[in-house]
Amino acid sequence: MKRTLYWVNKDLRINDNAALNLASKSDRLLCVYVVDKQSFEANNFQSKPLGDIRWQFLQGCLEDFNESLSKLGQAMHIVYGDTLSTLMRLCESYQITDVITTKLPGTYENRLITQLNERLPELTIDQVDQFTLFTKKSLPFELDELPISYSKFRKKMAEVIIPEPVSTVQSLPSMFDTLPAPTRFKPEWLPTVSAIKAKQGFEFEGGEQQGLKHLRQYFSSNSPAEYKQVRNNLDGWKNSSKLSPWLNSGCISVRQVMNNLAEFEQQHGKNSSTECLYLELLWREYYQWVHYKVGAKTYQFKGLAKHRPLTTFYPERFNKWCLGNTPYSLVNAFMHELRQTGYLSNRGRQIVASCLVNELSVDWRYGAAWFEEQLIDYDAAVNWGNWQYIAGVGVDPRGGRHFNIEKQTTLYDPNGDYQAQWIDLSQQSTQANQALDSVDAADWPVLQ
Ligand SMILES: Cc1cc2nc3c(=O)[nH]c(=O)nc-3n(C[C@H](O)[C@H](O)[C@H](O)COP(=O)(O)OP(=O)(O)OC[C@H]3O[C@@H](n4cnc5c(N)ncnc54)[C@H](O)[C@@H]3O)c2cc1C
Repeated sequence: MKRTLYWVNKDLRINDNAALNLASKSDRLLCVYVVDKQSFEANNFQSKPLGDIRWQFLQGCLEDFNESLSKLGQAMHIVYGDTLSTLMRLCESYQITDVITTKLPGTYENRLITQLNERLPELTIDQVDQFTLFTKKSLPFELDELPISYSKFRKKMAEVIIPEPVSTVQSLPSMFDTLPAPTRFKPEWLPTVSAIKAKQGFEFEGGEQQGLKHLRQYFSSNSPAEYKQVRNNLDGWKNSSKLSPWLNSGCISVRQVMNNLAEFEQQHGKNSSTECLYLELLWREYYQWVHYKVGAKTYQFKGLAKHRPLTTFYPERFNKWCLGNTPYSLVNAFMHELRQTGYLSNRGRQIVASCLVNELSVDWRYGAAWFEEQLIDYDAAVNWGNWQYIAGVGVDPRGGRHFNIEKQTTLYDPNGDYQAQWIDLSQQSTQANQALDSVDAADWPVLQ
């Protein structure tokens, strides 16, 4: 008898979910999502892995997935606590024979699987390869031979056929007779987030239904055909696809997005914009495989480089950057938008990351961790990979990027409209004249 625990993670969807399809072949099924206490505690870089805005979004995703499961006679059991001990306890209490989960590149998730395997060796653990567009098996090279530059990766992948989404399950096995009680119990360490509605924020509502609705709307508009011209603009709902929050929580899959893009091209023709969107989605793919390949180096100061960067940790500068109090008003506006909405355009992310590393000389990992807490669309491989790229310790053959803030302001916000949305411009000249570091009587920076 196959008694399965489906450990739900970044696959909060019914459609195109090969892990759920596999779970549907069990005799009994327990669907579990673990909300780990650690996610809400500050890490080594002073930030929490899960901030309020993404937590709010995630709750919408969990509710929506639970509704979909209940239509198939199942339910989602949300358990609050330490992930490993929770999974072990449930496996033992329910005499679980099989654990099914979606394979993720993150070192944390992979360590958990290894530990579960070591502690309960009789368990069969299936990690379904579906977070990426391609599976490891379908890569035209061994993972060790993953090209070290994106352009080489792109050329190699041009030959590989993009897979179709898998069929949707029509029914699921029955639940266990006695079910875990803690589903309704919410521990005191859980943040209570009241609905966050930022002023100029976008409407990101968590859940597969909302994700699919947005996917359909985007590809039934003309936006994909204009993507290249507007993707670097600093704001606007239609300037980029805005698919990332749903994509990274697994409400929609990258296969679904790519198939929608291919259909759009069939109907309206391919152009440089649709090609550009494809290439961005392929960047996402590349970072996932880089993470699989380099593992923990993703989070190390030296990253993939031979030498450590020349930056360090200046608490005061870092705090000013987080709060949008730097001498650079464009950067301040971005940091306010990020903190209030959880979203920032790609150009905004590049500029603030470059500022932290190059202007403020701060260790890039603090910035990456701040993004991890703040972003509604946080993805480990993409976030840390992009930060490494800008800090010059990643997959960039040019060795880092330095954005000229003045030039970027002239190019993208010449009249200050974007800045005026997020900051009080009248206070900015005072801020610009303030020293970056507080100094003591002898003019040494005061470390706080
Ligand atoms: C420092 C930094 C940190 C970032 N952190 C994240 C993150 O945690 N999560 C995340 O999804 N994206 C991250 N990005 C990439 C990019 O900024 C976002 O994917 C994008 O802004 C999301 O909006 P969108 O869905 O409208 O993107 P679109 O422009 O519509 O792109 C479509 C999809 O392509 C992928 N994509 C786009 N740009 C990139 C890129 N530069 N690298 C890899 N994939 C890309 C994303 O999956 C995106 O959803 C980061 C970029 C930088 C510079």
